[in-house]
Amino acid sequence: MCTECRQSPCHPSCPNEDAPPVYCCEICGEGIYSGEFWWDINDMAVCEDCVDGMRRTA
Ligand SMILES: [Zn+2]
Ligand SMILES: [Zn+2]
Repeated sequence: MCTECRQSPCHPSCPNEDAPPVYCCEICGEGIYSGEFWWDINDMAVCEDCVDGMRRTA
């Protein structure tokens, strides 16, 4: 979801609408955009959604 307009896809007036992703998630291929959280795992860019999917409780 966009961090500017909180919509996906972006609201037409959103300043991020046509901004290219800064990185692409190496797991799901989704773009990681400016201002979004991502994780550097063994030199792979991993998006927040994928990290959430990997979280486990022991
Ligand atoms: Zn937006
Ligand atoms: Zn991902």
